Amino acid sequence: MNLGLQDKVALVTAASRGLGRAVAMELAREGARVAICARQEGPLSEAADAIRQTTGAEILAVPADVSDPQGVERVVEATLSRFGRIDILVTNAGGPPPGRFLDFTPADWEAAVQLTLMSVVRLCYAVVPTMRAQKSGSIVAMTSVSVKQPLPNLILSNSLRLAVVGLVKTLADELAPDGIRVNAVCPGWTKTERVEQLLRDRAARNGTSVEEEEAKITAAIPLGRMATPEEFARAVAFLSSPAASYITGISLLVDGGLYRGV
Ligand code: NAD
Repeated sequence: MNLGLQDKVALVTAASRGLGRAVAMELAREGARVAICARQEGPLSEAADAIRQTTGAEILAVPADVSDPQGVERVVEATLSRFGRIDILVTNAGGPPPGRFLDFTPADWEAAVQLTLMSVVRLCYAVVPTMRAQKSGSIVAMTSVSVKQPLPNLILSNSLRLAVVGLVKTLADELAPDGIRVNAVCPGWTKTERVEQLLRDRAARNGTSVEEEEAKITAAIPLGRMATPEEFARAVAFLSSPAASYITGISLLVDGGLYRGV
């Protein structure tokens, strides 16, 4: 299927590695020009080089922290100044720290709100006026399967990602008359560097192997394995593209069947 992404301009945040990088790579492979950001210049420019070399696409790398209002402003301004438009915004950020309610203070909640919720809010404030002027645009917010089924030991993520879904659903309604679609995508267990580190930590803590820890997780996944970042990225590329022109306001699970609800 032709996704219709040729020459579209996409901004993918938090994309020096993991899911964000895989999404940027997939959009570039489909012919989009892509702006990416992450906090550290070194890994970011390494990612940009790798995407350029693999796809031949035009890639703009802007060091920026999406939990910082000025970081959001900087990356959006740089994207508009280079490409003159933004067709696709994929919001991503690092996950808030794991833990249970009594592990955190209100200050921890404030920091997580900036990272997980306000980054999406600010990115939308910065990009929506351009999309409205264009009379078209597609926003995809990366969340987690936890918005359908809260995960143990992740109270900050479980709580704040639901606010992102509320934002997505409401914006889908408000912005549809302007030709702007707004969706969420919800990864389940996907084998990124972060998850590989998590498996190593669990193995060290439990005196087991990485394979044993992975098997405990995949036992609950009907497809019997974790996703690859590329599998997740293909779903995002579709959802963000003109091929999904009648889809707005959804939360698309990419979880191998982990969520058992209907
Ligand atoms: P990762 O740690 O491998 O990659 C995170 C990326 O975000 C890196 O490029 C990092 O540099 C960048 N980043 C982190 N904080 C940032 C900030 N404040 N500003 C700009 N860039 C920042 O993580 P991942 O596995 O790719 O996960 C991405 C997101 O998806 C996270 O929020 C994670 O919680 C969520 N998620 C991941 C999974 C999974 O299985 N991998 C499942 C559900 C949800």
